[in-house]
Amino acid sequence: MKRIFPPYTYGPGPRAGCWWDDTIAAPDWPVYGGGTDVDVAIVGGGFTGLSAAYHLATTGASVAVLEAQSPGWGASGRNGGFCCLGGAKLSPASMKRTYGSSDTAVYQAAESAAIDLVAELLDRLDIDADIHSKGETELAHSPRAMAALRKEAEAMSLAGETPDLIEKADLDQAGFGGPFLGALTRPEGFGLNPRKYLFGLSNAAQTAGAEVYQQTEVQRIARRDGRFALETSFGQLTASKVVVATNGYSSEDLPKWLAGRYLPAQSTVLVTRPLTDDELAAQGWTSDQMAFDTRNLLHYFRLMPDRRFLFGMRGGLMSSPSAEHAARKRTRADFDKMFPAWRAVPSTHTWSGMVCLARNRVPFVGPVPEQPGVFAGLAFHGNGVAMGSYSGRLLADLAMEAIPDLPYPSQMRQPMARFPLGRARRVIMPALYGALKLGDL
Ligand SMILES: Cc1cc2nc3c(=O)[nH]c(=O)nc-3n(C[C@H](O)[C@H](O)[C@H](O)COP(=O)(O)OP(=O)(O)OC[C@H]3O[C@@H](n4cnc5c(N)ncnc54)[C@H](O)[C@@H]3O)c2cc1C
Repeated sequence: MKRIFPPYTYGPGPRAGCWWDDTIAAPDWPVYGGGTDVDVAIVGGGFTGLSAAYHLATTGASVAVLEAQSPGWGASGRNGGFCCLGGAKLSPASMKRTYGSSDTAVYQAAESAAIDLVAELLDRLDIDADIHSKGETELAHSPRAMAALRKEAEAMSLAGETPDLIEKADLDQAGFGGPFLGALTRPEGFGLNPRKYLFGLSNAAQTAGAEVYQQTEVQRIARRDGRFALETSFGQLTASKVVVATNGYSSEDLPKWLAGRYLPAQSTVLVTRPLTDDELAAQGWTSDQMAFDTRNLLHYFRLMPDRRFLFGMRGGLMSSPSAEHAARKRTRADFDKMFPAWRAVPSTHTWSGMVCLARNRVPFVGPVPEQPGVFAGLAFHGNGVAMGSYSGRLLADLAMEAIPDLPYPSQMRQPMARFPLGRARRVIMPALYGALKLGDL
């Protein structure tokens, strides 16, 4: 496997200390034993792969999911649990400029449908994922950002919606104590325990007939007699179709078309011990809304149902034990700065993982060019709880040659463009982060 980060990224180091591991035991997916032939083989056992598997299996297709590591190892088992709007890293205004108003409206409909899909799956599959929060609250970090939130609230009013805009003077009363200048709550989305959701989804996929394997890395996909032969660490699997769902853990050669077209980036999360009522009151943060700030390089945070506080932000640019240590320290320093009353509260858990960017800053879901029968879905720009699940459902439709009955935005069908600099493309990140940071001043 040709990958663009060092082996440390793909080992146990970054995910060591993940809080979700303490909340639910991993299911015992078998290791692949060889000799299987299926309609659809899925590479990657995160939200995208398992949602595709579940939706395919419910149509009666035979499906096998091949996951290189343990259950929940990828981003899906170690994220912040914000089931929220997003997936693209374009503002609505930039998306309209690039793709026009009507395609932007379809994308926005897909974002909402993605959240609805997760809510429906949790309900239909009876998955208890510790959900909380009525929509998501954005907190202004600067006067300019607050002016933009006010403008958005005005636009919401004109569109007949009832915006929930909070001015600075009322933030404490609403339980949002911190260095913020105001807030806007959008009604879509909720917080969840991602590992409980993921394992609920894998159980449902297996119950519907999907085979789900762990510790089974796909090393090569070859076309043979009109079918696909997937070489794994434990023998070959043959399939009529292949779905690649490897997101931030993708490689340059699986399939070869992906080379240079995705850019993994790190995100780091900490979780505190449960906060007491006095500690919550001292900081003035008592809301159970999931929230983020208006920075380009944003912070995301939420008080979870068990009163632990989760706080996340972008990770480092390098991946090594010392870079990981530095990213964790920076995350704690930002947390201390934003929530000073909790400086003495230990963060019992800290970890990191890889998100995935595309050059056009929109997720890709579609056929892999010039490889009929191979499909891929990736690049959720750090917002793949809802959009990855949704993409899995779209991929299931595409693999079955069915026309998706949910919005399938044209932007997401455009084949991914290459980043400049090929395998060295990570070197554009410092300049990118620098520019984004300047915009935050
Ligand atoms: C720290 C962090 C916080 C985040 N917070 C949020 C959040 O709050 N809300 C949100 O919406 N999104 C969040 N995200 C992003 C979200 O987690 C991802 O977008 C989403 O989980 C992607 O799902 P996936 O199934 O596409 O990929 P993943 O879950 O990353 O799964 C890909 C899998 O593919 C496997 N794989 C790779 N190559 C092979 C191979 N050759 N053979 C077999 N298997 C292979 C990997 O082992 C991996 O398990 C966060 C991400 C991180 C890292």
